[in-house]
Amino acid sequence: MTFSSTLAPFASDPLRSRGRRLFEEDAPTRNDFQRDRDRIVHSSAFRRLVYKTQVFLNHEGDLFRTRMTHSLEVAQLARSMARALHLHEDLVEAVSLAHDLGHTPFGHAGQEALNACMEKLGGFEHNLQSLRVVDFLEERYASFDGLNLTYETREGILKHCSLVHARQLEVMEPGGVGHRFIVREQPSLEAQLCNLSDEIAYNAHDIDDGVRSGLLSMEQLQSVPLVAHYSQETLKKYPQVKDRRWLFETIRLMLSDQVYDVIGTTQEALKGAELQSSLDAKHHPMLVRFSEPMQLASLELKAFLSQNLYRHPRVQKTTEQAKEMVRDLFLAYSHDPSQMPLAHQRREDKERAVADYIAGMTDRFAAKEHQRLGGTTRWHEQ
Ligand code: MG
Repeated sequence: MTFSSTLAPFASDPLRSRGRRLFEEDAPTRNDFQRDRDRIVHSSAFRRLVYKTQVFLNHEGDLFRTRMTHSLEVAQLARSMARALHLHEDLVEAVSLAHDLGHTPFGHAGQEALNACMEKLGGFEHNLQSLRVVDFLEERYASFDGLNLTYETREGILKHCSLVHARQLEVMEPGGVGHRFIVREQPSLEAQLCNLSDEIAYNAHDIDDGVRSGLLSMEQLQSVPLVAHYSQETLKKYPQVKDRRWLFETIRLMLSDQVYDVIGTTQEALKGAELQSSLDAKHHPMLVRFSEPMQLASLELKAFLSQNLYRHPRVQKTTEQAKEMVRDLFLAYSHDPSQMPLAHQRREDKERAVADYIAGMTDRFAAKEHQRLGGTTRWHEQ
C-alpha cells in the first residue's frame, strides 16, 4: 500500500494496528483506519450531528456551526497538519469526525443537565459517550453492536476520561483505551493532533459565529491580542477591507499561523524526542503542541470567548431552557419508559438507557419530544 511510504516512523500504521474488539478480515482495498472513517461517516450518530448545537441553538440561524460542520472543520485542520507531519491522515480524519458523536442535544447545557440527572449512577460525560456510541450504541451491523473500530481510533475518541471511569473501562477491557489514564501515558500523535485541532477550530469558528450573532463585535475583539494582531495585519494589507471580509480575513490569517505554529513546534519536539515508533510517543509529554507564545495567546482567546460569548446573557438564557428540557425528558422517560422505543424500554440499566436515548437526540427531536410529553418550555421563545 502506497500510504506507508509517506508515513513517519512514529506515525500510527494500520498494518501495525492493535486491531478491533472483534476480529474481522482485512478489506481488499482500504486500510483499517480508512474503514473506520467510512463506518463513522455512514453511522446514524454522525448524521445526527447536523442537527446538534455547537454553541448557538440549531434554529437560531442557518449559518452557525453545528456539531457536523465543527467536526468537518476539525478534520480539515487535522488532516492538513497530519500530512505535513507525516502522520496518518485517515486516522486523524476518523478521530476528528467521531470525536463529538457522544454530544447531547443543546451543546454543553444538555451534557451538564444529563450529568446532573445521572449523578448517582456514574454521571454523563460526552467523551465517554462518544466511545459508547462507536462501541455499543450504533445498530448497523448484523453480527455486532457498535462500529467495531480499531483500538487507535477508539483511543483518539476517548480524549479525556476521569480515573473512576478509566478504572471501569479497565475492568471491561484490561489494557484497553482506559489504561493510559491510569498509568498517565499520552495517546498517539494522531490523537494529540485531533485534540489540538478541535481547540483551534472552535476558537476560530466561535469568533465567526459570535460576530455573526451580534453578540461580539470586531471592536470588542481588539482586546484579544491574538485577534487584534491579525485584524491589524489585515488592515495593513487591505486598508479598504471592512465588515465580514475583515473578520474572515482575520480568522483566515489566524488559522494559518496557528497551523504553521503547530507544525513547526511539533517538528522540533519530534526531532528532540527521537521516536522510533508510534508507541514511543506515549511516554513523552504531549509532543503535538503550540509554541509557548501561541499557547498563551490561544488561552487568552479562550478566556475571552468564555467570558463574553459562552456566558453572554442571551446564550445563558437558552442554556437554562435547554437544561430544563433535558431534565424534564429524563424524568418523563424514567417515570414512564414506555415512552421510549422498545429497545430502550427493555434494557435493565434503566437510567443509563434513558441517558443514552436522550444523548442520541437532535435538538429538534428533543424539543418535539419535550412538547409531546407535556413540557411547557418552548425553545423558540427568546
Ligand atoms: Mg469538538
